[in-house]
Amino acid sequence: MTTSVPVSLGDRSYHIHIGEKLIESAGALLAPHLGTSAARRVPVVTDENVARLYYPAFAASLSEAGLFPVPVVLPPGEQTKTFGNLERVVDSLLSANVERGSLIVALGGGVIGDLTGFAAGVVKRGIGFAQVPTTLLAQVDSSVGGKTAINTAQGKNLVGLFHQPRVVIADTTVLKTLPRRELLGGYAEVVKYGLLGDESFFAWLEKNGAQALAGDNHAIAHAVAHSCVMKASIVAKDEREEGERALLNLGHTFGHALEAATGYSDRLLHGESVALGCVLAFKLSAALGHSKEADVARAERHLAGAGLPTRIAQIPGPRPKPDELLGHMRHDKKAQGGRMTFILAKGIGHAFITRDVPEDAVRTVLAQD
Ligand code: ADP
Ligand code: ZN
Repeated sequence: MTTSVPVSLGDRSYHIHIGEKLIESAGALLAPHLGTSAARRVPVVTDENVARLYYPAFAASLSEAGLFPVPVVLPPGEQTKTFGNLERVVDSLLSANVERGSLIVALGGGVIGDLTGFAAGVVKRGIGFAQVPTTLLAQVDSSVGGKTAINTAQGKNLVGLFHQPRVVIADTTVLKTLPRRELLGGYAEVVKYGLLGDESFFAWLEKNGAQALAGDNHAIAHAVAHSCVMKASIVAKDEREEGERALLNLGHTFGHALEAATGYSDRLLHGESVALGCVLAFKLSAALGHSKEADVARAERHLAGAGLPTRIAQIPGPRPKPDELLGHMRHDKKAQGGRMTFILAKGIGHAFITRDVPEDAVRTVLAQD
């Protein structure tokens, strides 16, 4: 069964199709989004791992639909999101003679999606692109909402633009080959949706999350679809993150600081930092009297039970110091005039945005963890 979640953004509206084995029928879902017949050549940007596993089946489904896939294969990993690779992708697109009616496909995780979306946004001042996310993180978060970016020496995702895809195709079957740690990292973002805005979804995850992670098709499809529904509803109201969209950053102020302090290394994946960051955000909420200790414990119990880190002490290697983490938080993209933005919660499912957090309270929470 395929679920289609609409993202309502006026003339930039699109659908997220979620279901099993969609890679094998992707051509039919993509074909309606191509303009002229001259644009039937479809560049498919992907990474070496995803290409090996899924490019043949994906390309076959495009061919069946009368399209001509042109592979653009990049090395895997976060280090791929550079100006150099952006140039490489742009060059491949121009060499393939893409035009206004063309469609470029991002087939891969968040790295491929971010880089390809950026390239599609700048080539010929913007051409259409489709997201075919293959990681859980990309299916529930980065492929939806139109944020694109690359990394620079100054930090992650500091250069990019908003460019919405024409369609998103999330094949839940491909998650079966995802390394366990990557799957869990994506799951942290799923739990984040429950924590920030939907207590009944959180309760559903408490009951069914383990099954979803064990590969149960129905459970994983529901987790992905519900996460997309929540993200779509927030993005529809605040596409450019002028307000409410910042709620999606629950756990990310702490998380980004932890990622920076661990050098964006293998010590801590993004999703792991989000799990830790969500628990820290609930601890801070409790310290400031917004949440009950029981909510902190409930959030932590579920994330830890899934196998995610929830304490700073669990990060391998030297422990990041509170002042070092505070330093990173002051430089966060979301900080304004050195004032940190926090997403706190009044209980599970009730997050809110605030700039009004005393640094001492943050330091205490970090020091106690
Ligand atoms: P994210 O979506 O978390 O940003 P990446 O794009 O960096 O992740 O992908 C994480 C890793 O998983 C990369 O090495 C990528 O090649 C690999 N990968 C992506 N999708 C799959 C999949 N379905 N099966 C196996 N490996 C995958
Ligand atoms: Zn995230």
